[in-house]
Amino acid sequence: MIVKQIWTGNAYRNFNYLIACPETGEAMAIDPLDHKKCLATAKANGWQITQVLNTHEHLDHTGGNKKVIAATGAKLLAHANAKDSIPGIDRGLMAGDSIKIGNTVEMEALDTPGHTMSHVCLLSHTETPSLFCGDTLFNAGAGNCHHGGHPEELYDTFANQLAQLSDDTLIYPGHDYISNNLEFTLDREPDNERAGLLLREIRDQDPDKALISTLGLEKEINTFFRLRSPSVIAALRETFPDLPGQPEPRTVFLKLRELRNTW
Ligand SMILES: [Zn+2]
Ligand SMILES: [Zn+2]
Repeated sequence: MIVKQIWTGNAYRNFNYLIACPETGEAMAIDPLDHKKCLATAKANGWQITQVLNTHEHLDHTGGNKKVIAATGAKLLAHANAKDSIPGIDRGLMAGDSIKIGNTVEMEALDTPGHTMSHVCLLSHTETPSLFCGDTLFNAGAGNCHHGGHPEELYDTFANQLAQLSDDTLIYPGHDYISNNLEFTLDREPDNERAGLLLREIRDQDPDKALISTLGLEKEINTFFRLRSPSVIAALRETFPDLPGQPEPRTVFLKLRELRNTW
């Protein structure tokens, strides 16, 4: 499996992806908003885009569909429940569905509600798994729930699905928000040395060569996985004095999500 992360350089800081089969050159474009860059990258590598996948229905993820499909004849894949919000879906996905790219790549669809209620993530079945997580999980952060989402479901997705994946899973999010997110982590947890070091490392990184994190690293630096951290809880209790001394992880997650909305 070949993965190409494509930095769009737009105001929303989107990442698009091409995933190619090294044997056949068939490729899938994930959320190819920057259709020009996606098509040019495929051409430069001799790949044929045969599938377009939208992680969810927001325009900064679906806005390049038409151009890519017109140029390649690719099939469009998205969550089965997105059929009314994304025009032209050829294949509606449900949890556990298998998606093949060429003859070497197999991906599994995860049903991951929270950012929106018809959001899929893709998990590769490869020796080192890769997770294409759209706006559900970001480096050091979590998606917001302002446009069709629900924080309770986002918590369930994090706790019951994402946190259960193996620590070596490579994380490929839909946006580059890592600097702001690390600052949020450090504001919650000033003694998080790993987050402090990482922020210094990546502050001036070239988004064309962005750091690819792992789930294991996220568990160290992403507040939304650190729901039992005494520092996180102590700092939250300063903002939310009603919070009990040993709150449930779900409560901590919901308060963090609420705080992040205005932070
Ligand atoms: Zn979104
Ligand atoms: Zn987005």
